[in-house]
Amino acid sequence: VEISVVTSLADGSASLRLQVAIEAPQHSGLDGVLDYAAERRLAPGTLVRVPLGRRQVCGIVWAAGQAAPTEVALKPISHALTALPPLSPAWCALVEFCARYYQRSIGEVALAVLPPELRTLDEASLARRLKRLAAPASPGAADRGDATLPPLTHEQQSALDALATCAGDAGVALLHGVTGSGKTEVYLRAAASALDRGRQVLVLVPEINLTPQLEARFAERFSDRRIVALHSGLTPAQRLRHWLRAHLGQADLVLGTRMAVFASVPRLGLIVVDEEHDPSYKQQEGARYSARDLAVYRGHLERVQVLLGSATPSLETWQRAAQGRYRRLTMPTRVGGGAMPAVRIVDMNTLPRRKGVTTALSPPLLDALQQRIEREEQSLVFLNRRGYAPVLHCADCGWKSGCPHCSAWRVFHKLDRTLRCHHCGLTERVPRGCPDCGNLDIAPIGRGTERLEEQLTELLRGRDGGRPRIARIDADSTRTKGSLQASLEAVHAGEVDVLVGTQMVAKGHDFRHITLVAAVNPDAALFSSDFRAPERLFALLMQAAGRAGRDAARAAASEMWVQTWHPQHALYAALRRHDYEAFAKSQLDERASAGLPPFSHLALLRADARTADVARAFLQQAALQAAQLPDAQEAVVYPPVPMSVARIADVERVQMLVEADSRAALQRLLATWLPLLHALRRQHRGLLRWAVDVDPLAI
Ligand SMILES: [Zn+2]
Ligand SMILES: [Zn+2]
Repeated sequence: VEISVVTSLADGSASLRLQVAIEAPQHSGLDGVLDYAAERRLAPGTLVRVPLGRRQVCGIVWAAGQAAPTEVALKPISHALTALPPLSPAWCALVEFCARYYQRSIGEVALAVLPPELRTLDEASLARRLKRLAAPASPGAADRGDATLPPLTHEQQSALDALATCAGDAGVALLHGVTGSGKTEVYLRAAASALDRGRQVLVLVPEINLTPQLEARFAERFSDRRIVALHSGLTPAQRLRHWLRAHLGQADLVLGTRMAVFASVPRLGLIVVDEEHDPSYKQQEGARYSARDLAVYRGHLERVQVLLGSATPSLETWQRAAQGRYRRLTMPTRVGGGAMPAVRIVDMNTLPRRKGVTTALSPPLLDALQQRIEREEQSLVFLNRRGYAPVLHCADCGWKSGCPHCSAWRVFHKLDRTLRCHHCGLTERVPRGCPDCGNLDIAPIGRGTERLEEQLTELLRGRDGGRPRIARIDADSTRTKGSLQASLEAVHAGEVDVLVGTQMVAKGHDFRHITLVAAVNPDAALFSSDFRAPERLFALLMQAAGRAGRDAARAAASEMWVQTWHPQHALYAALRRHDYEAFAKSQLDERASAGLPPFSHLALLRADARTADVARAFLQQAALQAAQLPDAQEAVVYPPVPMSVARIADVERVQMLVEADSRAALQRLLATWLPLLHALRRQHRGLLRWAVDVDPLAI
């Protein structure tokens, strides 16, 4: 390419060169940092508007000005938003690390993690918003007296003492506490100590649904402080306002989902990651970052303490704690001395079968549920499958309700008589008869939450002898705004006998009157091809068990029921003893002998195309490229295989696993390989997209 040689700018006014991060997607091949000319020095982290082609885009000054080269004509920046304090060097360093580690461009990550509305502001609209925020400094001025604080358990006190000995230092602590052990109180006290030092606190939670609860706890404790939330459920205006309050140092506490790890927090003093094991901390598109891992890195970068809380830590975190890299704080007992629920394993093999068909609900479980209703206690029954039945079937010709566009069945939803594909969204009326042979007797196979709700309604009686009061919480029942809140309130108000739901209900919610939790059919995860499936199942069951007996007075009578065809499985044995440590040890032993994380490091290279051949050909070429690289012998590249749902919306998805013994070796390989992949992609015209996922969670 020939660059025309001209003098910088005719009038000589813009004589400095600025590097500006702009939103350049990974596939553009740019690293997202471009040179522009400026009249004066601007601090790195300053927001600017710059021309890009025919458009004006938002950018961030990434490196300070230096003398502009005279041989290249640089476009001048349009204007700088200097009314806003620049993003901090630590923030920029976090973005750079994320981009490098997860193999994306700096500009893409930097701009994607800002509130969308901020990227559209000009000087005037920014000034208006800042003026509105300048109003009263902090809400209320209620004094909080120590007298109102709940007494600490011995375990909480030891955990806090341990944190206090290194307060103000960097370091990661794993707070391993069973559900009900009072982890939130430890977060609150640790936060209070950071706030008293004049610092801001960042608290991450896995799901939007859980933010209002935790926000309420923090708001109640810190009535003299300003708290803002950051998550995708906010309106663009709210998100901008909250972001600005954090950035300007007006908010003392920032609470949010994974995106909040990138909040600009100038006086950061503590990061809390609640339920650190939760898979939703991993972003599943764009830069596929782990907010938990970035929080740890951010703590290291800004020399602040990071507190990772969980009853069932991820095996990665557990392993680091065992190695002494994280400090381990243990809280094995529930506040108030309540017992953990007794775990009952129901062996489904021993139950009588009706004409070869087994009932979803075993008679002993039904009896136990009925007893709860008589005693005015509540139960929670969970099944990780929504809809009425996962598939419809014709017994005459063998037809099944497959999705024409995906390698998946369409789920039967009885309430609106539809067949819905949960992958591509295709929704159609249920046919009157079999589409292939006309047989009118097509029947559902298996069960989802809708059918479970129906069966429970038939098989149980309410206290008055009438119908039992059953509520269902899943992605279908909570689609309309406010419906989740209404269902939860009905449960809290005691208007529900049995709550049926997917894993949505097993996480976090604090139900006081539930004394029985039942997992109806959790076995599938035991035999999944994904090596992390047992870890996820164990965490989910432990978390679900934790929903029972949260009210100490009822704890003694609380139970967790698990219906299984594999009662001897080691996972259930550990669950019965509430023995996370034994489970973690057996899993880590298996992982060590199989060379799986955390004993190795993985990346997934994914390719999508209209045909599997095209996707596979790209990956095979990519593997050949990798074999030529200097670091090739340090990694193993496995053959391409279809993803577990191979086709979605007529797109074939193929993936290839890359494994290395060390994180550094994997990073070295990816850093030299990725530029070649951008070039290779241009030779494979049929390819729709490709992506790399570093430290993938689902294999
Ligand atoms: Zn048929
Ligand atoms: Zn589909």
